[in-house]
Amino acid sequence: MTYDGDMTQFELSREHEEFRRTVRDFAEATIRPHVAEWDKAHHFPTDVVQKMGELGLFGLTAPEEYGGAGLEAADGPFTSLCLAIEELGRVDQSLGVTLEAGVGLGINPILTYGSDEQKKTWLPDLVAGQRLAGFGLTEPGAGSDAGATKTRAELDGGAWVINGGKQFITNSGSDITSLVTVTARTGVAESGRPEISAIIVPAGTPGFVAEPAYDKLGWHISDTHPLSFTDCRVPEDHLVGERGRGYAQFLAILDDGRVAIAALAVGLIQACVDLCVEYSLDRHTMGGPIGRKQGVAFQVADLEVMLHASRMLTYRAAAMKDAMDGGRGPSMKEFKQAASVAKLYASESAVTATRIATQVFGGYGFMEEYPVARFYRDAKILEIGEGTSEVQRMLIARGLGLPVE
Ligand SMILES: Cc1cc2nc3c(=O)[nH]c(=O)nc-3n(C[C@H](O)[C@H](O)[C@H](O)COP(=O)(O)OP(=O)(O)OC[C@H]3O[C@@H](n4cnc5c(N)ncnc54)[C@H](O)[C@@H]3O)c2cc1C
Repeated sequence: MTYDGDMTQFELSREHEEFRRTVRDFAEATIRPHVAEWDKAHHFPTDVVQKMGELGLFGLTAPEEYGGAGLEAADGPFTSLCLAIEELGRVDQSLGVTLEAGVGLGINPILTYGSDEQKKTWLPDLVAGQRLAGFGLTEPGAGSDAGATKTRAELDGGAWVINGGKQFITNSGSDITSLVTVTARTGVAESGRPEISAIIVPAGTPGFVAEPAYDKLGWHISDTHPLSFTDCRVPEDHLVGERGRGYAQFLAILDDGRVAIAALAVGLIQACVDLCVEYSLDRHTMGGPIGRKQGVAFQVADLEVMLHASRMLTYRAAAMKDAMDGGRGPSMKEFKQAASVAKLYASESAVTATRIATQVFGGYGFMEEYPVARFYRDAKILEIGEGTSEVQRMLIARGLGLPVE
């Protein structure tokens, strides 16, 4: 799909379609046979994540000098990333979000705002997908209200001394986590509001602990931890971007992340369509396949509509991002609106789609041996992570000029 001002072309390029096929084949061969077992064991398959790296998935949006694909904006690198997330997510949502967070929250802040030194030091391993990075914004008292960050960082003898805690941080405590970038209060701004900055904390720094992983409803294969910081010292040059701009930087990073989460939702809805069509033809009741009954077939038809609408909104927002990076508009305001619209619609559709899919599977849909049960558990977080549905509605209403608080 390409975005060109008023004209949006609603077809993916041949290269994008070929790339989709490559990722689909990888997911089918490498992930599908093991996913149920990993999900049950809450196992994070480090080797598979590194294989995703070998396939180049973590480097799609990075320049060649750090080992990335070095794609031009016209080649649609962000669209490629969304396709990869969608295709992984069609087989397993956890590995889809591992890539989404690995690039969107791990690589992006350093690539976009980091110093040359930081990029040279940290990006090659991350871009190669051999290591992972997390971004710690959320705290017990600061989620939707991310500006309420309590974690503090004070300068002392050329080092930031960090104290506080973060929660729900993806990719933050795996065997291959190399760092987390955290937001912390570094003082008081001229406006009197807290000054919030972003700081890189390498894994293994004394005083930084990734606490035991959460026991989550879904995303069992994804790595999520609470983090604690106790007199944790990192060199002053680990500040990412400008002092006091950490919150604003993170909000900008989140816009891309919303489109990527929408792509994850599209993969989930596609999985529901595929599974339901197959099952509706195989499962017989009262003398024929359940797909012959309108009560079932119409529900599957509704899934198809959700799929296409979600996919169009997602690809459109991704194409807008690629066009923006290529200096061809749209405005940041238009992109933000498109990102929130795609995230809201696709994630809510995914939750509905998994509910319908479980219904189509009847009692079997409630059994863990069928993938719809896993997808049902995995869907809910899509309405929460990277800005809840309520936050998206707030942003969309504000984008329309409404003075909503
Ligand atoms: C599995 C998982 C992975 C995550 N990964 C990361 C990560 O890598 N990094 C990171 O920083 N965070 C991460 N998060 C955190 C996630 O982004 C937050 O959970 C989310 O933004 C919501 O914040 P909260 O949990 O504090 O909920 P709250 O902000 O407390 O919200 C509670 C409820 O109130 C509603 N609400 C709050 N404020 C408003 C308002 N102004 N108007 C209307 N409704 C409102 C919310 O929509 C929600 O329904 C992750 C979360 C999970 C569960």
